[in-house]
Amino acid sequence: QNVEILVVAQDVLERFRPVAQKNGVSLEIEVPEDLPPVQAEPRALQQILANLVENGLKYTPEGGQVIIRATRRDSDVVITVEDNGIGISPEHVHRVFERFYRVDTGRSREVGGTGLGLAIAKHLVRRLGGDIVLESQPQKGSKFKFWLPAHEP
Ligand code: ATP
Ligand code: MG
Repeated sequence: QNVEILVVAQDVLERFRPVAQKNGVSLEIEVPEDLPPVQAEPRALQQILANLVENGLKYTPEGGQVIIRATRRDSDVVITVEDNGIGISPEHVHRVFERFYRVDTGRSREVGGTGLGLAIAKHLVRRLGGDIVLESQPQKGSKFKFWLPAHEP
């Protein structure tokens, strides 16, 4: 199925707007209008983005921001969800996609969770033929980047 990233991102943004407002974190989308659609199940893509945005809002202190971006790269569409929140230190970065893995910091403990959101996101991305990576620096923020095959008309 062909899915427009912009449409799904807007859905997710609508859904999380109240949480963003409550947390005092701005939530934005930067997706070009002429981006090709991706081949994906709409619900899978929605779940992936929702899990990443939910984390961004959970692990970013008041005054911060979460941005969804997308761009074309060869035959893929690359989507990033970036925040300027608490970040993840190098010893944890490669483990956060494991089931039930949670970094034990003040904020993670405070907000709670089961440690499944990223494992699910990774599973779904790979099932759709892509992959997901994380770049992060403690106290600076996190950038989750995943890619999916673009639909070639
Ligand atoms: P769940 O998503 O199941 O409710 P969770 O958010 O703790 O719980 P994941 O979404 O899998 O679980 O994330 C795993 C861990 O990675 C989190 O507990 C947190 O420590 C860390 N993490 C994930 N996203 C971020 C982020 N954007 N900024 C900082 N830390 C993050
Ligand atoms: Mg989560």
